[in-house]
Parts: sequence; C-alpha cells; structure tokens
Amino acid sequence: MYQVEVQVKTLTVPEWLEKYCQPEKFVPLCRECPQYGKNWSCPPGMTTAAALAGGYRYVQVIGLKVKYDEQVLREAEHSPQRTEELRQETYEAAKKKMLQALLALEREFPGSTTIMAGGCTLCRTCARAKGEPCRYPEKMRYSYSGLGFDLGRISDELLGMPLLWQKRGLPAYTVAIASFLHN
Ligand code: SF4
Repeated sequence: MYQVEVQVKTLTVPEWLEKYCQPEKFVPLCRECPQYGKNWSCPPGMTTAAALAGGYRYVQVIGLKVKYDEQVLREAEHSPQRTEELRQETYEAAKKKMLQALLALEREFPGSTTIMAGGCTLCRTCARAKGEPCRYPEKMRYSYSGLGFDLGRISDELLGMPLLWQKRGLPAYTVAIASFLHN
C-alpha cells in the first residue's frame, strides 16, 4: 500500500529553537484545527517548546515520508470517506509505528523524550473532548506543530522533503515530522 523513506538530521537544541521555532507566528494558527482544545497534546494550555526542550543539548529531527502506491492514490479519489480510510491505513499506521519506535528509544536512553507529528491519536476520541484527564500520559507526546515550529521550513530546508497539499484524494506522499531530544 505504501513505502516509507526516513531522513534524520541532528542539531543542537539552541540552534533548532532559534532557526525553526516561532510560537508567536504558528501557535495561533492551531485555532483553525478541529483538534484545538480537544486533544491534550495540542493547544491551548500545553507546554512550550522552550520548557520542554530547554534541558536538552541535542535533537534528532526525523522526517518520515509515506509514499502511496498508485492503487491507493486512485482509490483515494473515490470519496472523502475513502480518502480518510486510506489515510488511516497508511500514513496514520506508519506514524503509530514511528511513535512505538521512539518510545522504545526513550526506554533505552532514560531522560530522553519525543515530540510527535500532529495531535495524539492513541485513543479514538481524546479524553480532553469529554473534559477528562489523559488516559495514557506515559505514552502521549506533544504535537510538533502545537509547539510552534515552522514545519514547512524544516521539511524543505533540513529534511529535503517538501510538504505536499492536495484538495481531493491523497498527494503522492505525506511527511510526518517528529523529534527525539536527549543529552
Ligand atoms: S493518550 Fe488519549 S487521552 Fe491522552 S492525549 Fe492521546 S488521545 Fe488524548
């Protein structure tokens, strides 16, 4: 159904924050997202990049490019519902594997942490939508975009994986950006 390509770049945390984090510009854009206020990994009220990353020296910026097979691209054009089903079976499935791999890496390097691509999808509906506490705080990781990073610039400049947008169906590929912070 799909193939993946991974790029990893290492930066110091101060350089990464200086070059790519602009919360004053990007966090307000989260208000347009359906997850806003309905997911514990997203704004409002979540931690800041400086608070989360300030104690770390190094960051691995990870780009996961999910390239869709021709058949998936054709099928995805049938209807918005089919597009979403296929997105769940491909891109979201690949993202879940990436989260599991990064959580395993955290266990190998105690004290390290992860920032994930997009809002947390561990539960079908986030407990925040019902006003309840997070069900899996030990596994939940904050959203990269919710922390105010310039993901377009990271994907272009750092990872060489420009983001693609498509009004109908799926684009040729989708990029998930995550990070692993450690000392
Ligand atoms: S683990 Fe569940 S409740 Fe917690 S942020 Fe993720 S989706 Fe929401």
